[in-house]
Amino acid sequence: MNAEIIAVGSELLLGQITNTNARFISGQLSELGINVYYHTVVGDNVDRLVNAIKVAETRADLIIFSGGLGPTKDDLTKETIARHLGTVLEIDNYAMQSIEEFFTLQNRIMTDNNRKQALILKDCEVLINRHGMAPGMLLEKNNRIYMLLPGPPKELEPMFQFEAKPKLAARVNDGAQIVSHVLRFYGIGEAELEVKVQDLLENQINPTIAPLASDGEVTLRVTAKAYSLEQAEQLIAGAKDEILRRVGQFMYGENDDSLSSKTAKILIDNNLTIAAAESLTAGLFQSELAENPGISQSLIGGVVTYTEQAKREQLGISADLLENYGIVSSQCAVAMASKVKEKFGTDIGIGLTGAAGPEGHDNQPAGTVWIAVVIGDNEPQTYQLHLTGQRNTNRLRAVKRTFAFIIQLLTEQGYRK
Ligand code: ATP
Ligand code: MG
Repeated sequence: MNAEIIAVGSELLLGQITNTNARFISGQLSELGINVYYHTVVGDNVDRLVNAIKVAETRADLIIFSGGLGPTKDDLTKETIARHLGTVLEIDNYAMQSIEEFFTLQNRIMTDNNRKQALILKDCEVLINRHGMAPGMLLEKNNRIYMLLPGPPKELEPMFQFEAKPKLAARVNDGAQIVSHVLRFYGIGEAELEVKVQDLLENQINPTIAPLASDGEVTLRVTAKAYSLEQAEQLIAGAKDEILRRVGQFMYGENDDSLSSKTAKILIDNNLTIAAAESLTAGLFQSELAENPGISQSLIGGVVTYTEQAKREQLGISADLLENYGIVSSQCAVAMASKVKEKFGTDIGIGLTGAAGPEGHDNQPAGTVWIAVVIGDNEPQTYQLHLTGQRNTNRLRAVKRTFAFIIQLLTEQGYRK
């Protein structure tokens, strides 16, 4: 089955909102093994919408519409589809009732145009909207499926997941299951990773393997189709073994893992405490770490010491050191890590200093970053980065590298209290 997603809404074309519905629906369809070949975006205009439908009908068996099911004049998706397919709209009693109840409950007067939301395509299957008023629809006609979903993501996403997806799964998969695992890599470029697994990408049919790069990380999505969950997992495990044999040293996690969650898990599982002194990242490291539930037993605290004066006064770093080596130096990073570790009495101390850009800083070019990690009584370890992104990208990359560095050090050198 081939699908096309038609997102309706002039605000999408004006750049006011991002088409997250298409991204969401695509992700869901790929889990069902349904190919998405086209995303179309069209404004709130009948003629252009009809044209888009006609084009989609030449190349898709499943056409999914998002948006334009609401009560206002510019909401014209279902009216246009009805006319195009030569069918009519009928009142859905269930939808009508829930709209009326909604208004009574809110103590508001229902205007007439709200009745419009209870109109559905004749002979369609209704997709219940549990988070809004306009119901979704699934209509089979001329060997094609037309699916209409409301625009607001908080309505569309649950409707797709709980109402539409099971209906599609029943139609496409003849009982087969599609299972995906995402393998997460750091410290290897997309191009390099791809070269190492090129033959697998090209030759695998089941499971399929697809790479994706973002924010300095690379992932491989391994997707298997089988008639039982165990069988699908077995297929994935086989492919994963081969991938790990080639690039295993760069893999840090799977599926929903992130560098930050992986770090948090290692810290919590090993009862380790941590504190950070941050300059260019100004708290970003601690903020990212704090996203993980349970981290309060490990993340004790930290300081933002942005200026030279703050580094001296808050951390007690000597003026001599700063004078001799500069703020953007391994010596300064190590001093920050050691001092903050001492100050908070933690097992691990982190120091982050650098020039985020666009200007250089303290005689160092923009993008120069020093990361220091002090673990227990071990020798302090440093890592230098030469980043080339814009200011905030550099700050985020510095934090990600710090997480990766901590994971690497704790895995490699182990830990002595
Ligand atoms: P409503 O009843 O709210 O009018 P609707 O089904 O008529 O819903 P639209 O009017 O097209 O949908 O869009 C309503 C809102 O939903 C938009 O203002 C926007 O915030 C969000 N939205 C619409 N389309 C998309 C999309 N493709 N991706 C993400 N958000 C969207
Ligand atoms: Mg609307």
